[in-house]
Amino acid sequence: MEATTSLLDAAAVGDLVLLDPLTEESLLQTLQERFRRSNIYTYIGNVVISVNPYRSLPIYTPETVQEYRNCNFFAVKPHIYAIADDAYRSLRDRDRDQCILITGESGAGKTEASKLVMSYVAAVCSKGEEVDKVKEQLLQSNPVLEAFGNAKTIRNDNSSRFGKYMDVEFDFKGEPLGGVISNYLLEKSRIVRHVKGERNFHIFYQLLAGGSAQLLQQLKLRQDCRHYGYLNRESSGLPGMDDAANFRAMQVIGFSPAEVTALLEVTAVVLKLGNVQLSSSYQASGMEASSIAEPQELQEICELIGLDPAVLERALCSRTVKARNEMVLTTLSVPQGYYGRDALAKNIYSRLFDWLVNRINTSIQVSRKVMGVLDIYGFEIFQDNGFEQFIINYCNEKLQQIFILMTLKEEQEEYVREVPPTHAGPPLCCPQCGILAMLDEECLRPGVVNEDTFLTKLNQLFATHKHYESKETQNARRVMDATLPSQCFRIHHYAGKVTYNVTGFIEKNNDLLFRDLSQAMWASRHELLRSLFPEGDPQKVSLKLPPTAGFQFKASVATLMKNLYSKNPNYIRCIKPNETKTGMLFTPELVLAQIRYLGLMENVRVRRAGYAFRQLYDSFLQRYKMLSPRTWPHWTGSHREGTKVLLEDLAFPPEELAFGHTKIFIRSPRTLFDLERRRQER
Ligand code: ADP
Ligand code: MG
Repeated sequence: MEATTSLLDAAAVGDLVLLDPLTEESLLQTLQERFRRSNIYTYIGNVVISVNPYRSLPIYTPETVQEYRNCNFFAVKPHIYAIADDAYRSLRDRDRDQCILITGESGAGKTEASKLVMSYVAAVCSKGEEVDKVKEQLLQSNPVLEAFGNAKTIRNDNSSRFGKYMDVEFDFKGEPLGGVISNYLLEKSRIVRHVKGERNFHIFYQLLAGGSAQLLQQLKLRQDCRHYGYLNRESSGLPGMDDAANFRAMQVIGFSPAEVTALLEVTAVVLKLGNVQLSSSYQASGMEASSIAEPQELQEICELIGLDPAVLERALCSRTVKARNEMVLTTLSVPQGYYGRDALAKNIYSRLFDWLVNRINTSIQVSRKVMGVLDIYGFEIFQDNGFEQFIINYCNEKLQQIFILMTLKEEQEEYVREVPPTHAGPPLCCPQCGILAMLDEECLRPGVVNEDTFLTKLNQLFATHKHYESKETQNARRVMDATLPSQCFRIHHYAGKVTYNVTGFIEKNNDLLFRDLSQAMWASRHELLRSLFPEGDPQKVSLKLPPTAGFQFKASVATLMKNLYSKNPNYIRCIKPNETKTGMLFTPELVLAQIRYLGLMENVRVRRAGYAFRQLYDSFLQRYKMLSPRTWPHWTGSHREGTKVLLEDLAFPPEELAFGHTKIFIRSPRTLFDLERRRQER
């Protein structure tokens, strides 16, 4: 074994499928060594691993684009362009819809990767006025979406706070015609709260810094961020990011000036809602009530949206509830009032974001062959994991499942085409689906619901489930070190065990917006705002509760999976090498954790479960014919026969080889290394 590893020394292994021995350490070392040599890209079969260099490398030049254009995937150095090229060519020439799935943790380089793919495709497809217009529109939707959907976080100054899936549509000649964007789970809690050192969504700072005096006046905004409750946690400026310039440069494709104004008005309303202050007062009955402390901001909001201030005030300070078949107006306490205000701000913003995405879609959408690019948050394991992590990890678990399914499907398809089938995919089950269903059930139950009963039910449901644990099931299973806190449950994900705290699950899943508030919004004369709250129409009041957050997410993930499954998948796995955004710094522990979260070992194993190596007979013979006197220097028979003769002479064990119609399959990398070694010893 020594000989083979030194021959193909670890760092030279551009494809981890060839790694021998395969261990977490060898995988990590290979990535580290390659990274040290500025090889940030490495393959697992045709999966690309990308390690963020945090500095600009000269590998995205027009010359590089030319080099990868029509390249042979395995003949050139691993590069993100190779996967983009491969996907684009399969789409154009073989008419197979493609999708490119990009995962990784925040700051790992997902969004950059998706832009590199897009710009590569834009560069290689043909030119022409019409095509250029489409390309421009597709690429230009980025800044607007980033302004509304990205924010500075501790991990990434330009962190996407939503998942994005974009289908680019091509005509039969491979020219882009348009696209459709879907968004997933915008982090709307950021509107009302963000941790110290982070920011709210970029758009607010950009608008205040870059809007003209006239625009700000029209929107009734002040230029100073510190004036705004939702923004003033931290100094606003960001090194390396010019908010004002970004705002001025932002072009919203295909929007009318009136639409842009409406968009900004609603944005301003969100910001101003955060400044509406409540104070407490007591009613004659002694009940606590709240009232608007300072009417100026409320007044201005109502002027912007054409609403009677009394209507909004009433909706913010009281709530209609049904008691014994009668509608009664009850007062809200100050905390309840703030809860309602913040829920309103979050709802307006997230619905505005959905509107924005839909609106962009209407200007870029057509329908032909498609190439999808998915840029979505990776697996998250924090100290405290709540509903958000649960949902995000649910999505990642699904993505990993689909990876396994599709890889095996693909392997199997190729293998079946060539030689008879051998294995089937592993059985899949997922406790998360059951948990979300149970959560919905709890949320629908009338009367007092709480997280304790929810957890108790989970414990019953999953009493014997292998991938579920809680204090109670641990006790029942007599686990020696029962370590879980009582309000937690633990799921064994493919990427590791994660402990979730159920606190807040019900409230977040309900995502409750008091009906009085949606009715108030619907009553405004602002067309756009009004259209965001269709349920506020009193004519349409239904007794059905709106779908829960979990339900909506589950449905959109299901649609996504269906969409992905119908396409040919290509994967990019992004890795963040250090916590400090430092150029070329590689922290092994950090990378190792991501190797686990990304399921890379599993990736390699799944690939290897098929045949590690496959090659067309003629190229195989060309490369190795020197190893047998019978095939060297010329073989006159068929390539397949020649390969057989050659391998006979080399006396490899028969189970190592399978002879397909057009390709030779070799099971273990060891055999391949052996071939290479013999070749070099010649
Ligand atoms: P994510 O979307 O995964 O959160 P981003 O794509 O926004 O991460 O990347 C974070 C930062 O890392 C970028 O702003 C950029 O500075 C740097 N970066 C990412 N990919 C590359 C790359 N291929 N080359 C150079 N810098 C990169
Ligand atoms: Mg991103």
